[in-house]
Amino acid sequence: MTERAYLDWNASAPLRPEASDVMRDLLSLTGNASSVHAEGRKARAAIERARLQVAELVGAAPGDVIFTSGATEANNLALRGLIGAGAETGERITRLFVSAIEHDSVRAVAAALAVQVPGLRVSEIPVGAGGRVDLTALRSMLMEGKGRALLSVMAANNETGVIQPIAEIAALAHEADALLHCDAAQAPGRIAIDRAAWGIDALSLSAHKIGGPQGAGALVVGADRALQPQLLGGGQEANRRAGTQNALAIAGFGAAAAAAMRDLADIDGLAARRDGFEAALRRADPGITIYGEGAPRLANTSCIGLAGQRAETAVIALDLAGIAVSAGSACSSGKVRTSHVLAAMGVNAEAAGEAIRISFGPTTTDEEIGRAINAILAHRQNRQPKEYERATAG
Ligand code: PMP
Repeated sequence: MTERAYLDWNASAPLRPEASDVMRDLLSLTGNASSVHAEGRKARAAIERARLQVAELVGAAPGDVIFTSGATEANNLALRGLIGAGAETGERITRLFVSAIEHDSVRAVAAALAVQVPGLRVSEIPVGAGGRVDLTALRSMLMEGKGRALLSVMAANNETGVIQPIAEIAALAHEADALLHCDAAQAPGRIAIDRAAWGIDALSLSAHKIGGPQGAGALVVGADRALQPQLLGGGQEANRRAGTQNALAIAGFGAAAAAAMRDLADIDGLAARRDGFEAALRRADPGITIYGEGAPRLANTSCIGLAGQRAETAVIALDLAGIAVSAGSACSSGKVRTSHVLAAMGVNAEAAGEAIRISFGPTTTDEEIGRAINAILAHRQNRQPKEYERATAG
């Protein structure tokens, strides 16, 4: 069998040993975290330990952490919950500004709210060619129009790795008495996150992006911030998210959060390996584009354009060669469609359809990176010359 190199960490990171150890120990867990008996207390203790670990990861208080089924649910809860609470408390939110490069779990909710909430205006915050939010445009959006605004801007993009100036965005938001939601699913362990210092009102996290299990995540939002729960039922998660907690997955999430914080110590090493990967490809093939190259980017992400070759074909060829990568965003794979992220950066549909994403992790080896370089360059050799190239060739 071909040896595999898993280079799709932004789609889902491998489970960390720290997470699998804690989950293995809890597999025989019997109690419900809401029960008062010893078995229930054991489940509750596992959840509360994880709450501390997740809070520490993002510079929040444990009481601010609401466990969810992932970042998708956290994003839904943030937008619907804040806008719903605004209507209930009389501090109505009438404007929702969503960056043009948000994940679909923000974009789709914003589109639904535009139809469902009377009087809510939803607008897109543009990004520049480098993939960063246009702060000048945001400033005038905040100044124009009346009524309280809610902004949703991600910490770092899942496709390009481009990091957003969240502290500056938060400052602009708060000057205008607006709220800021930040989807930080891709950020932990790659950049330091400080919810309080940055001034983020609500922050979404996903366990499986940081080496925890799939199907767990959190919304981190001040315990005193009005938030309309979206799942109704029991009083779990301080009445903000009903339903028996997935104690096992939450414990794994907590362990992964603690471990992810340690990744920052060698983040420059990871950036150097990623830069070496891109430089080697470029040297061999100057026709390769690197998206978001000029902007601050996550150390682990490389979004490259293979001029003249469709991304889906490249992903299959690389898979056969033992290399796991994705075309654009893996969350939308299966459906072939143009990346809204690259489109927002001004990349035309043809070029966007030629972009693949390679995402590394702290345990990615130089040998794996070397094999990926060879496989990509081998695939480049199979490129069919375009009509005009054929016409002028030899
Ligand atoms: N936001 C971002 C930026 C993501 O990359 C993802 C996963 N692709 C999500 C949200 C959704 O997270 P989850 O899989 O935990 O629902």
